Amino acid sequence: ATTRTPLMAGNWKMNLDHHQATHLVQKLAWTLKDARHEFTSVEVAVLPPFTDLRSVQTLVDADKLELVYGAQDVSAHTSGAYTGEISPVFLAKLGVTYVVVGHSERRQYHHEDDAVVAAKAGSAFGQGLVPIVCVGEGLDVRRAGEHVAYTLTQLDGSLAGLTEDQASKVVVAYEPVWAIGTGEVATPEDAQEVCAAIRTRLGELFSPSVAAAVRVLYGGSVKSGNVASIMAQPDVDGALVGGASLDVDEFAAIVRYQS
Ligand code: PEP
Repeated sequence: ATTRTPLMAGNWKMNLDHHQATHLVQKLAWTLKDARHEFTSVEVAVLPPFTDLRSVQTLVDADKLELVYGAQDVSAHTSGAYTGEISPVFLAKLGVTYVVVGHSERRQYHHEDDAVVAAKAGSAFGQGLVPIVCVGEGLDVRRAGEHVAYTLTQLDGSLAGLTEDQASKVVVAYEPVWAIGTGEVATPEDAQEVCAAIRTRLGELFSPSVAAAVRVLYGGSVKSGNVASIMAQPDVDGALVGGASLDVDEFAAIVRYQS
């Protein structure tokens, strides 16, 4: 992780109302400012529901906050008869930096397969957004010892069609499904094993410079108490944080894992 800027991204999922969302962003910014957090050393992103993005944009712009924000999903299309979908064009106009694609909850509840995820990643890049592409195995796969092969197959399919330039900018999040929202965190060695395998595969799929540039995040029950040991792994470049990102002090402590 030495040459890559770590990214700590808070996935709020379908939580917080409008007031709570703006309050959380302000409080997070103040807390990190008080701690003299260097955003160039550890990048900080919040990923609110779509309906909060406009307010978050207003706050970030008005107060010149250094944190960035993103969305939790995006349409594979730019416009048209896709009721309920959100175009990457809309997100780009809201100043969005990142877009999560292929989160396990979308793969599970909305039956998104790797082809859909790849189409969404391409759609995000088409508007200058950076996709955070999520991959990771379920408990049955882990118990069968097939987690590396399974995750790499997901990776291959989810990055299909990206150019080398796009691939060099993508963020990959390894999120073992059995660790999401369960309180059961992967060991640092488990996280390292799969994140390293992802990086090796990026080299095979694209180039050694892509492998060296891409940030591979770990996600799954990250808390202030376990983040440092996970971040100490050479191929882990940050965290995608669910539950713990809703608590300002806890998320700020995760961001400040080095202090
Ligand atoms: C997530 O959903 O991306 C996630 C990592 O959730 P949690 O941190 O709550 O396990």
